[in-house]
Amino acid sequence: MIIKSADFIKSIASSGALYDLQLPEFAFVGRSNVGKSSLINSLTNRKKLAKASSTPGRTRLINLFLINKSFYFVDLPGYGFAKASKQEQASWQELIGAYLENSSNLKRVFVLVDIRHTPTDKDLLMLNYLYQYNIPFNIVATKADKLSKSQINKQVLNIANTLNVGFNDIIVSSAIDKKGNDKILEIIENLLK
Ligand code: GDP
Repeated sequence: MIIKSADFIKSIASSGALYDLQLPEFAFVGRSNVGKSSLINSLTNRKKLAKASSTPGRTRLINLFLINKSFYFVDLPGYGFAKASKQEQASWQELIGAYLENSSNLKRVFVLVDIRHTPTDKDLLMLNYLYQYNIPFNIVATKADKLSKSQINKQVLNIANTLNVGFNDIIVSSAIDKKGNDKILEIIENLLK
């Protein structure tokens, strides 16, 4: 699939502002700084569609992008930044929970983890949400350009074991050399058929 157009539609700040989007949705989520904005920009061939590298945790909104005028990319707020207060954590959980519960057109969630790190409790909590709401997901291991091939294999195994998913369920990705983009786009294309 080729992404021909990608337009920012709106940001949603509170669970009360959620509404039924009518078109298929594909969401991206992960810890702050995991490379979510970079991946969205890389997939859409746009340099600044999603804001890369704003202060971690400052992007506490759900951002909606209309792709090829036929489906949405949903950029969910990053989680797990160190300085988050209890209140910030609670509002993140409320917003994510409300979104996952109400998004009737959500086809797939791409959960991003940094390929260099062992997933944390926050990542496991996210997966638990997805199991709870019965939402299918793929794991995307970001920043693969930072590791050698043998290190990549070792880390994919580590991530798979930690998250209790299969080795082949993990998409190895790099926003810089676009590794993995074809796999992500193929998954989306198949779900749109
Ligand atoms: P976000 O907070 O999840 O949206 O993360 P960003 O996309 O802003 O990326 C966080 C940092 O990681 C930035 O400095 C990016 O340049 C860097 N980064 C993101 N993706 C990659 C990647 O695939 N390879 C490398 N080498 N750096 C990346």
